[in-house]
Amino acid sequence: MKATCWYGKHDVRVEEVPDPKILNARDAILRITSTAICGSDLHLYNGFVPGMMEGDILGHEFMGEVVEVGSEVKNLKVGDRVVNPFPISCGQCFFCQETLFSLCENSNPNAALAEKMWGHSPAGLFGYTHLLGGYAGGQAEYARVPFADVGPIKIPEGIPDEQVLFLSDVLPTGYMAAENCNIRPGDTIAVWGCGPVGQFAIVSAYLLGASRVIAIDRFPERLQMAREHGFAETLNYESVDVRESLLEMTGGRGPDAVIDAVGMEAHAPGMLGAYDKVKQAVRLESDRPIALRQAIMSCRNGGTVSVPGVYGGLLDKVPFGSIMNRALTVKTGQTHVQRYLGPLLDRIQNGELDPSFIITHQMPLEEAAAGYDMFLKKANDCVKVVLKPGEQQRKRSTSEAGVVLH
Ligand SMILES: [Zn+2]
Ligand SMILES: [Zn+2]
Repeated sequence: MKATCWYGKHDVRVEEVPDPKILNARDAILRITSTAICGSDLHLYNGFVPGMMEGDILGHEFMGEVVEVGSEVKNLKVGDRVVNPFPISCGQCFFCQETLFSLCENSNPNAALAEKMWGHSPAGLFGYTHLLGGYAGGQAEYARVPFADVGPIKIPEGIPDEQVLFLSDVLPTGYMAAENCNIRPGDTIAVWGCGPVGQFAIVSAYLLGASRVIAIDRFPERLQMAREHGFAETLNYESVDVRESLLEMTGGRGPDAVIDAVGMEAHAPGMLGAYDKVKQAVRLESDRPIALRQAIMSCRNGGTVSVPGVYGGLLDKVPFGSIMNRALTVKTGQTHVQRYLGPLLDRIQNGELDPSFIITHQMPLEEAAAGYDMFLKKANDCVKVVLKPGEQQRKRSTSEAGVVLH
């Protein structure tokens, strides 16, 4: 089959690799129909995540058709159409029983590596470093899904891929980020980063009762999306002082909760930004927590800091004194996707949510390298790239142009 393979910094290649096989009785094999490139894939693409090996198959946001099931998978049958959650979870351990699926203690065969770095290991993830299991990802024609009796959710006929694909990660991730804000009616929520997770955090904050959402970014097209689809007020951090503006907009008090949907590779203007870039480059700091610092310092006293943005290791100059003295609550974690699949599919089916608005580009799987490059540079106003296995063959027959803009 064809698969998107990692070869190092800014080097991904679509190659022929062996087809995946059923290895365990609870596995299933999916034929992928749609798969997306995630902002967190860019951390791999930029070489900031340890534990990657040449040839690793990328991708943790994917859906498709079941083509084979192991003997213990009773809930799925060949031909079912499913969306797959990015954490791999057994469904039976202490954490899975508590619905803390991204902390499953049975799915990371390399737990010892993760324990060295983080003290304990979280769940294994698809296509996301050997530190988290080294599982082959889904930016490919086929994928093996372990614990297929727990993870994938069946999609009823009639709903297009574009509306449900993001159940695999960014939609529940944005939703959990908003849920972690413990929103009460009347609350004001500020969201750093208007990429896919930020956009869904904005929409979810309103669904959960927020009165106002203020979104922060520097790309005009992303801010526009936040205004038009999310009904957020927006701040461009290159033209205003974000903390001062937020105080002004909230009667001097600050937002009730803040969401850092940026993570470890925050754009770094100014002195502190230069400091982070240098420290990260020489590996004295693994992450650039610029958005996180600003979010903490902007949050009102006693408020909540929700962090869906991905961080890898050690952060510098994080104002923990501000968190302690001002009684802030910090909530974070890889998303417990399985917990949200059903409720969010219901919201999509009853028309409350249509996540397809974030898609700016669809392209054949074979063009994945160009997709990564475009997404990294945010060229052509790129917000979200969906890769379509099998599309190149269809395109050849209809001789369409390379990139289809929605
Ligand atoms: Zn993702
Ligand atoms: Zn488990």
